[in-house]
Amino acid sequence: MSDQLTFQNPVDRFPDITPPEQDQPEPGLDAELIPNTDRGEDSYRGTGRLEGRRALITGSDSGIGAAVAIAFAREGADVALSYLPEEEEDAQYVARLIEDAGRTALCLPGDLSDPEFCRDVVRQAADGLGGLDALVNNAGRQIAVKDIADLTDEQWEHTFATNIHAMFRVVKAALEFLPAGSTIVNSTSVQAYSPSAHLIDYASTKAAINNFTKGMATQLAPRGVRVNGVAPGPIWTPLQVSDGQPKEALPHFGKNTPLGRAGQPTELAPAYVFLTSTESSYVLGETLNVNGGQPTP
Ligand code: NAD
Ligand code: MG
Repeated sequence: MSDQLTFQNPVDRFPDITPPEQDQPEPGLDAELIPNTDRGEDSYRGTGRLEGRRALITGSDSGIGAAVAIAFAREGADVALSYLPEEEEDAQYVARLIEDAGRTALCLPGDLSDPEFCRDVVRQAADGLGGLDALVNNAGRQIAVKDIADLTDEQWEHTFATNIHAMFRVVKAALEFLPAGSTIVNSTSVQAYSPSAHLIDYASTKAAINNFTKGMATQLAPRGVRVNGVAPGPIWTPLQVSDGQPKEALPHFGKNTPLGRAGQPTELAPAYVFLTSTESSYVLGETLNVNGGQPTP
């Protein structure tokens, strides 16, 4: 089996998938996604880049967050997993892979749209891991609505609460624990620059995350805490089938990128590893685009 360090053609490193139309209730499960995703279970090879680190990763039961959690563990980190209670099955799958890598997995179910849980989850992670020096703010919700007339106040506010308000609260709480040398990586999106017509609320939060990332990087630099972002393009995850895209768009998902295919979650993991490892010590306020070749500002 080749790994992420094997010389490969990016065009066909992973298959060009044509997902069938399908629907899952929010938040969606990797366990029920067709086709299945590649989270690096059989391919991600650690090289000791995060030895001894202690990380809290939100939204790490599935998709990109799961791939990041698996990679972090194989790079030597203990990992606290934050996810919604309905996602226990996916979370247990990831926790087992972390333990197989010889690292600690701490499962912390709860709803980040609740301000109190944002503070609790950080405290529980730091207590359970014996400290905290890496934070990945990756949880997010995306619900497609074609017409602003149908975009409710409730949805607008819930999307902002989950994607950006929670990020502010988790970062604020984490700073009580993060020593100099620690890192924060925020999941933003190509939607921050190229909003889809049906993702007005979601795309607005991603633009806010880019700005928050740069501002916080500037504020925290003197403390030795680095803040960066990763902006994925179309990545095949449960987010897309739990109303993240219009159903009829699923078979075409990711095909309009220069690489001609959707990305797999494990293709994101090295970006998060790089921005968390000390090898990126002079990289701050950067958004690393991992999007199959779509031009960005
Ligand atoms: P995903 O559904 O696998 O992950 C999102 C996770 O967010 C869920 O697993 C869930 O645990 C968490 N979450 C949602 N609402 C929550 C809440 N209220 N409280 C706690 N946790 C909550 O999908 P993904 O695509 O891997 O998404 C991960 C991140 O990547 C998101 O921020 C998403 O916006 C971003 N992203 C994804 C894509 C893509 O194409 N898949 C593209 C750009 C950005
Ligand atoms: Mg999930």
